[in-house]
Amino acid sequence: LKKFFPVKGPLGSIGGVKGYVKAVNDVSFHLYEGETLGVVGESGCGKSTMGRTILRLTDPTEGQALYRNEDIFQLSGKKLQQVRKDVQMVFQDPFSSLNPRKRIGQTLEEPLAIHSIGEKQERTERVMDIMNKVGLQLDHYYRYPHEFSGGQRQRIGLARALVAGPKIVISDEPVSALDVSIQSQIINLLQQLQEEYKLTYLFIAHDISVVRHISDRIGVMYLGQMVEYAPTDSLFANPLHPYTQALLSAVPLPNPYKKKERIILRGEIPSPMNPPSGCIFHTRCPYVMDVCKTEAPTRAEAAKGHVVACHLYGERES
Ligand code: SF4
Ligand code: MG
Repeated sequence: LKKFFPVKGPLGSIGGVKGYVKAVNDVSFHLYEGETLGVVGESGCGKSTMGRTILRLTDPTEGQALYRNEDIFQLSGKKLQQVRKDVQMVFQDPFSSLNPRKRIGQTLEEPLAIHSIGEKQERTERVMDIMNKVGLQLDHYYRYPHEFSGGQRQRIGLARALVAGPKIVISDEPVSALDVSIQSQIINLLQQLQEEYKLTYLFIAHDISVVRHISDRIGVMYLGQMVEYAPTDSLFANPLHPYTQALLSAVPLPNPYKKKERIILRGEIPSPMNPPSGCIFHTRCPYVMDVCKTEAPTRAEAAKGHVVACHLYGERES
């Protein structure tokens, strides 16, 4: 079986950003400039792989990721270097990627050195500036990673992602290791930084309440496929895919849209190495029909920008 996806995407002319992820079954999405696209799903659904694949941290099996009209997967040399500058990643645990023997200032200057940005003096100034923007103190420049709390480390992770001036930030569970109060600080910070630096976010998380707070649009993933994507309000007001309905029914926060019974899914998530035939969700779906077992549903746009892959909505496809 194919490991994972492709990412595909045409890019708008004026530095616009559009990505397009094509999963094994041809489910896809775009990433528009300046937006936050949240990607939600249980662990193992392929969210992280998707993020890592876009950055070429892991090799795609097939497909394309178009950025500035070029396929990231075909790039090498200078052009790939440019993508690695423009597209940055923030991880759940920045500590594991911080060199314990280097002072924070040194670590933060590394991306500038890698991309040959500025001379020593300018690099230090840029680092100081970004440290300030993410809410670190200047004397933190001389400290070591172990001297920081989880929230501060995530600020350091953000500073490192932003110091070289990226266009797109892919964050993989950036707040899920943090206490709830710290989570909202970091989310607010992400939003401020997005505004200030005109960033485009691909925000990956398993917690749909967190994703909802920050996202303009949300894609729901199940077993390496995007089963539904929609503007955030539309998704919450009218979740269409049975899997999305189950996810939303489990949201512990009061749901202002609809009061619903919690939907408990039966069975385990099947192995992504051996996904079910037909609709990948059919082994757990409360509405499973015969056709679901043999035929994979195609995508249908049920409302403007609200796309779902499920036979229940198949007739509406144009
Ligand atoms: Fe359920 Fe069938 Fe829709 Fe899949 S296609 S989600 S099995 S109703
Ligand atoms: Mg993950």
